[in-house]
Amino acid sequence: MPMQTLREAVSQAKAQKNAIGHFNISDSNQLKALALAAQETGFPVIVGLSEGEREYFPLVHARSVIDAYRADGIRMYLNADHTYSLEKAKSAIDAGVDSIVVDGAKGGMVENISMVQSVVAYARQSGRDVVVEGELGYIGQSSKLHDELPEGVTLENLTTVEDAQKFSVESGVDCLAPAVGNIHGMLKNAAEPRLHPERVAEIADATRLPLVLHGASGNTEDDVRACIASGVTIVHINTELRVAYRDALRSSVAGDEVAPYKFLLPVVESMKTYVVGKLRLFDGK
Ligand SMILES: [Zn+2]
Repeated sequence: MPMQTLREAVSQAKAQKNAIGHFNISDSNQLKALALAAQETGFPVIVGLSEGEREYFPLVHARSVIDAYRADGIRMYLNADHTYSLEKAKSAIDAGVDSIVVDGAKGGMVENISMVQSVVAYARQSGRDVVVEGELGYIGQSSKLHDELPEGVTLENLTTVEDAQKFSVESGVDCLAPAVGNIHGMLKNAAEPRLHPERVAEIADATRLPLVLHGASGNTEDDVRACIASGVTIVHINTELRVAYRDALRSSVAGDEVAPYKFLLPVVESMKTYVVGKLRLFDGK
C-alpha cells in the first residue's frame, strides 16, 4: 500500500481529533532523531525548516534523506516552515516539499490573502499534492529563549473568528494557523500565557479547516491537549528540541571522545526520547 499523502494524514488526524507533531531541524542528526521516534511510535512526523534553517541545510538535502527513511516505511513529511515571500515559496515547492507555511501575518489582511492565493495557485499547478498553510495574527517570530513576551502578543491580538472565516474562504488555504495565546520561542524564567482552546474551537467550527498550533514549546501539556481536542491538527515544536539538542551535546562533548558518531549517539538518543513523548501526547496515547 502506498504511504498516505500529508493531506490524507492530516484529514485522518482531524477526524480522530489527534494531532501530528511538527519539529524544526537544521541538520541530519535531528532528522535521524525524528526518524527513530516515528519508527518507534508508528506515528507520522512533519519535518520543518524555516528560511534560516534551510539556508544551512537545504530543502533538497532534507528531501533526499527523508525519502531514504520513507523507503524504509518511516512516515515523514517535509514542510517549508514560515516562508515570507512568493519567490521563496516557489523555490520551496520546486524543491519538493509536502507542505508550505505562507507567512503573511505581519502584513495586512489583503496582502496576506493575495500572497496565499498566489502560492496556492503555484502549488496546484506543480503536479504534486502540496498542502498550503496560512498564518493569521501575530505570535512573534523568533524560536529562542525570551526574557519577556514578544511585543504585539496580547489578548486583544488573538485571531478573531470573523477574520479566520474571511481569510480561509478568500485565500483558498488548506490549513490555518491562528494566534490563540501561543508564542514562538519560550520564556526563559516565567510560565507562558495560557492557550485559548475555546477560540480554537470557534475558529475550527467556522472555517472547517485543520488548524495548526505554532510555538507549542513552553506550553503545558493540558493546554496543548485542550487545543487538540478543540480542532488543532498539527502542533509545531522548535525551541524545546533545540534546547534538548544543545544540552545533550554540551554534556556529550565534555569528555575526550573525538568520533562524531560516538559523541552524537547519546545526543540523538536524547532528542528521540523527547520527540517520542511529544508524539504520544499529541496522539493522546
Ligand atoms: Zn511557527
